[in-house]
Amino acid sequence: MDLVRDLEALAEGARLSIASASDDRALEELRVRFLGKKGEISAVLRGMGQLAAEERPRVGEVANRVRDEVESLLVLARQRIEDARLEQELRGSRIDVTLPGRRLLPRGHRHPVTRTTEEIVAIFARLGYEVASGPEIELDWYNFEALNIPADHPARDMQDTFYVDGAAIGRPEGEGAVLLRTHTSPIQIRAMKRAGSPPIRVVAPGRVYRSDYDQTHTPMFHQVEGICVGPAITFADLKGTLAAFARAFFGAGTRTRVRPSYFPFVEPGAEVDVSCSICGGSGSRSGARCGTCKGSGWLEVLGSGMVHPKVLENVGFDPAAVTGFAFGMGVERMAMLKYGIADLRLFYENDLRFLEQF
Ligand SMILES: [Zn+2]
Repeated sequence: MDLVRDLEALAEGARLSIASASDDRALEELRVRFLGKKGEISAVLRGMGQLAAEERPRVGEVANRVRDEVESLLVLARQRIEDARLEQELRGSRIDVTLPGRRLLPRGHRHPVTRTTEEIVAIFARLGYEVASGPEIELDWYNFEALNIPADHPARDMQDTFYVDGAAIGRPEGEGAVLLRTHTSPIQIRAMKRAGSPPIRVVAPGRVYRSDYDQTHTPMFHQVEGICVGPAITFADLKGTLAAFARAFFGAGTRTRVRPSYFPFVEPGAEVDVSCSICGGSGSRSGARCGTCKGSGWLEVLGSGMVHPKVLENVGFDPAAVTGFAFGMGVERMAMLKYGIADLRLFYENDLRFLEQF
C-alpha cells in the first residue's frame, strides 16, 4: 500500500472541506476528523507498522507536513469566519448619527436667581449701563478701604466674611487681607480704576459672601450693584433711574419712595422702597392685612446714595469736577418679592418641585 499517496489524498480532502466550512462548529468537526486521536491521519499512521523500516521516515515526514498544513488551514479558516461574523455585525447595527432623536427629553430652564439677575441687568442695559465683573476672592482694599470702610469701622461687623490665607495663594505679605467679597461694590471700584476717568456707567452682578445663616440670610447670595459717575449727576438722576427700574421690574404702576439711610460709601445715602407688588400698595388684600408688606403698602428693595467724595478720590476721580450715584440690591430678595417666596433657603435646596414653578 502507498501511505504517501493516501496522505496526499487526505490533505487534498482537508483543503476542500476546510475551505467550504462556514462556522466554528463545522471547523471543530473537521479538526476531530483529520487531527483527532481516531482521526484520518492517525489511521494512516497506524498502517506504518506494516512498512519496511527504511520507508518509515519518509512517510513520517509527509504525515507531519500534512498535519502542520491542516492545523494552519484550520487557524486561517477560524480567522476568516470570525472576520465575516464581525463584518455582518457591523453592517447590521449601522447608526445614522444625523437622524433626529426619537424621544424629546424634558428641557430644563434657568434657576430663578439667574433669571432675576438677567432681568435686572437687562433693564439697566437698556438704560445704557455696561455690565462689569470682578473676582470673588478680593483684596481688603477693594472690598473695604476704597469704599470708605477703614479697618476699625463698625460697618465691617455687619459684613463679617470668610478670610483667605494670602500666603497660601501666593500673595506677598503686606498687601493686606484677602477675603471673599462681601458685596459687589469692589467691582465698581475696579471698573472706575479701569476706566481711568469719568463718565462711567456700569452695573455689576455677582455672588457675594457673609458669615450668616438663617431664614433670610445665606453665607453666599447674589447682588446687582450699579454706579453712574459724570459731570453734574444729581440726586434727581438717582431717583429717576431707580423709579424707571422699579416700574420695569415690578410693573408699570409701581411707585417709589426714598428714605434717608447710612452707607459708608455714599453721602447722602437712601433706602428706596417700592409700592407692594402683591397688594398694589394698599396694605390689604381681600380684606386682610397683606403679608408681604406687613400692611405698610411698601417694600424695601434697595440701598443707594450719592457716591462719597472719598470714594471718588480713592479711584483718582476729582470730586470737585464730577459727582455720581450708586445703588445695590440683593437678587434673592428681588426674586422673593416678585414671586412671593417666603424662605431664602429654598433657592439653594435644589428641590425640583420648587424650581419647576419658574
Ligand atoms: Zn402688600
